[in-house]
Amino acid sequence: MGSITFTNLTRAVEIGANSYLLQIGAKRVVLDSGLHPRMEGEAALPNHDLLADNSVDAIVVSHAHQDHVGSLPVLMRRQRRAPVFMTEGTRALSEVMLHNSVNVMLKKRDEGVVSYPLFTHREIDINSRRFSNIPVRQRFDLNGERLSPNENVDIEFEFFDAGHILGSTGTLIRADGRTIFYTGDVNFDAQTLMQAATFPEEPLDVLIMETTRGDRATPEGFTRAGEELRLAEAFRDAFERGGCVLLPLFALGKTQEMLALFYEFRRSGLLPRDCPIYIGGLGTKLTELHDRLAPRSIRQRRGLQLLDEVAPFVVGGQDAQTLPMKAGRIYALSSGMMSEKTLSNTVARLVLSEPNHSLIFVGYADPASPAGKIRSAEPGETVQLSAEMPPQKLRCRVDKFNFSGHSSRESLRAYANKVRPKKIVLVHGDVDAMNWFREVLSTDLPGTEIITPTPGEPIEF
Ligand SMILES: [Zn+2]
Ligand SMILES: [Zn+2]
Repeated sequence: MGSITFTNLTRAVEIGANSYLLQIGAKRVVLDSGLHPRMEGEAALPNHDLLADNSVDAIVVSHAHQDHVGSLPVLMRRQRRAPVFMTEGTRALSEVMLHNSVNVMLKKRDEGVVSYPLFTHREIDINSRRFSNIPVRQRFDLNGERLSPNENVDIEFEFFDAGHILGSTGTLIRADGRTIFYTGDVNFDAQTLMQAATFPEEPLDVLIMETTRGDRATPEGFTRAGEELRLAEAFRDAFERGGCVLLPLFALGKTQEMLALFYEFRRSGLLPRDCPIYIGGLGTKLTELHDRLAPRSIRQRRGLQLLDEVAPFVVGGQDAQTLPMKAGRIYALSSGMMSEKTLSNTVARLVLSEPNHSLIFVGYADPASPAGKIRSAEPGETVQLSAEMPPQKLRCRVDKFNFSGHSSRESLRAYANKVRPKKIVLVHGDVDAMNWFREVLSTDLPGTEIITPTPGEPIEF
């Protein structure tokens, strides 16, 4: 069949606008089509200029986070004959995420980003007809036809549950007697809603692996159960001080995981049963979707309907500036980075300078974002939430927890050792994270070639 080449279509070695090209003989498959969370305009897009128009045969989307799906309509505009493969969950969530992205871009255009919006609501509606629902653990060909057990084709693919967020998958491609596995974003440990990933365990030829947490060792003695108890204690402390708690959360994934955890906390008495919980904006819409898809989702607690059973109050954009910060309330609001003009940023103004309130971080925040800056600030230091707001003294309590949706580096290392690939391609990580993997994996697997793909340079497998 000929050679297999991989090209990194991101613009830098980082977690940004993820997109990768696999050329297998004459066929071209694009894995993911993200949008950079920090860049603006065309610079936020992957380097899709490397793909000639209408030269792509199929597009695979691993999950609905912005850094994997955010530029899909732009890619589809130039690749008109490529079907787009994703799970049912990813499809439903992606449509909401992409429509929301248009709304955000329209606002930014009003503020002067002239190239926005990069696509329109109508374009998403038309494009989504080319999305195919692909279930996990079934073999398909590149036209999206399911293969019967004895049927063999030149190139086939199969999805595996990645345990990261609803609908997330890893993709196994079998071509010419070779196996290539792309992890997407993965979690090998169970969360409150998501189950642990179930990935192929057969020996692989090539493993394309995310490396998000490569720069952080898991602390000795760390367990999720222990972290949950520590979180419950932080709530109790804040409530005893007569304060409320603000959790800035990613709308997709983290919001639903935390609501499920609050449900468990109330049942086990770790939170008062009547403790008011507030969510808002995109988080509410995505939670509705999690409830609707629950009976058909690969997850734990499939009978749990978050909006009914946790019964959160919904904060509208207007009331955010005047919310009463009463003792014992939990504000679980997006965005996770506390970006300007989001609910978590607006409500933080009411929280930051009050010693009785708590600000609780449960996941990753870009160091350059408002959340990242507050995370690294010392108590009493001055912080600024947005250009229009006067700086504020940081007087509230700040607590940090690890409820990451990404696998620990130790689990990813163990997985690589289990499948013993001939080549490992490191993606979706900062340079330090990739360096750690390069170092340990070269020792663990001396016969394996470890590759950090330079953006735009094809690598032959
Ligand atoms: Zn993700
Ligand atoms: Zn990602």
